[in-house]
Amino acid sequence: MHNDTIAAIATPPGVGGVGVIRVSGSDAFELVLPLFKRPGNQTELPPSHKLTFGHIIDPDTREILDEVLVAFMHAPHTYTREHVVEIQGHGGPLILRRILRAVLAQGARMANPGEFTMRAFLNGRLDLAQAEAVMDLIESETEAGQRLALQQLRGRLSDQIQQARHAILGVIARIEASIDFPEDDIPTPQPEELRPLIAEAQKLVSVLLAGSDQGRLYRQGVRTAIIGRPNVGKSSLLNAFLRTERAIVTPIAGTTRDTVEEAANLRGVPLHLIDTAGITPTDDPVEQIGVQRSRAAAESADVVLLVFDGSEPLTEQDRLVSAEVQQMGFGVQASNEEGTARKRPVLLVLNKADREQKIDVSELKQLWPDSVFISTSTFSDTGLKQLEDTLTDLILAGRMLYSESVLVTSTRHQEALRRATEQLKASFYSLEQNVPLDFVSIDLRAAYDALGEVTGETASDDLLDKIFSEFCIGK
Ligand code: GDP
Ligand code: ZN
Repeated sequence: MHNDTIAAIATPPGVGGVGVIRVSGSDAFELVLPLFKRPGNQTELPPSHKLTFGHIIDPDTREILDEVLVAFMHAPHTYTREHVVEIQGHGGPLILRRILRAVLAQGARMANPGEFTMRAFLNGRLDLAQAEAVMDLIESETEAGQRLALQQLRGRLSDQIQQARHAILGVIARIEASIDFPEDDIPTPQPEELRPLIAEAQKLVSVLLAGSDQGRLYRQGVRTAIIGRPNVGKSSLLNAFLRTERAIVTPIAGTTRDTVEEAANLRGVPLHLIDTAGITPTDDPVEQIGVQRSRAAAESADVVLLVFDGSEPLTEQDRLVSAEVQQMGFGVQASNEEGTARKRPVLLVLNKADREQKIDVSELKQLWPDSVFISTSTFSDTGLKQLEDTLTDLILAGRMLYSESVLVTSTRHQEALRRATEQLKASFYSLEQNVPLDFVSIDLRAAYDALGEVTGETASDDLLDKIFSEFCIGK
């Protein structure tokens, strides 16, 4: 089974005060003990779950590699439910690598990404949704995102999924009992009996699905591209935005010469602001690369802030940029109506409001008939609060701000819930059509399995591999 012993450095690369090496598996204790030298040359296993002082030595040369604290933790009360040893050494990458090498030389295997958490899952300590929450928690960019991940880790989402599965299973059991034991006087359930039971399950699923678009926002954030011709104040606006947002979260990697990406916290939603250098066509080959990159950034954005210089008349370049943005499919404000394919929202920003305004607003309104205009000045900070409010409205599109309820935050979960909904609908339909109950049962089974993918009961090995390979090594 999965009980060969694995080891990895569990702390991030680089220099730190302490660094941790994690070892998990049936032989974890036997592998580490010979490397662990304690005062008075004690050799017995130290008490479980206690930090014990000593040195890690090279077992062949007896050379001391580091002064350490080691915790030997007896299964099953460990992260993986296996025997676990955690070695706390000094946080230098070289030291940690030498200790790890010594552990591997003893017969441990280097852990794959996410393998510790995968073991926790396989050994039943966490279900799949909880295991995924571990990574969400590590990667969350705002406190709201953190709270949601923690709820999921504590099993609140799983509980609700299991409730829905339980409800479905109840219906399946009713149907199958009558099919399997017809002679035992188990009456064939009537559609009128089954319908409310299915509806109950459907309600549980739809509640989760209803919050999932919003939940995903908190986890994935919103990509907001700042677009406009050169010199209108895009970079100043980005900086002003970051200035007013006191809770600036981690800077985002991938900043290039042509686009700058920064993260801000818009009332709990991670806002990824992308300052684009320019998207208007150019003949200069070097600039062309920049244009392509900026355009790609804009195309992948959820929202566009289209910036103009209010202190100057509209230029030909302004019109070109406008046309580009429209071609990319940004347009009218996000509408709330269900089912209508809504365009991605664009907010028009007339910057430099501290100066005399010469821009032709009526022409702009013709270009952008349904969009919102906001005047800003990055010099006096006018309009920035309004910009933030409007942006929040656009992003949440009338949805409530984060509350304490359980929210589905993952696209994978959302898709599984959608499939479950479809199957439940199908079972309803089958029931209406008076087809034999086995068919209804098949639909219900499919819904049951779709929900099981969220918690992992019915997840394929491929899916599990995919999910855990996205973890970091040592987690
Ligand atoms: P970008 O090329 O669109 O990124 O524009 P920048 O942010 O680099 O700004 C271009 C110029 O406009 C700089 O000299 C800024 O100081 C100036 N600027 C930016 N915002 C304002 C504003 O609100 N009012 C005034 N008067 N000038 C501004
Ligand atoms: Zn700029």
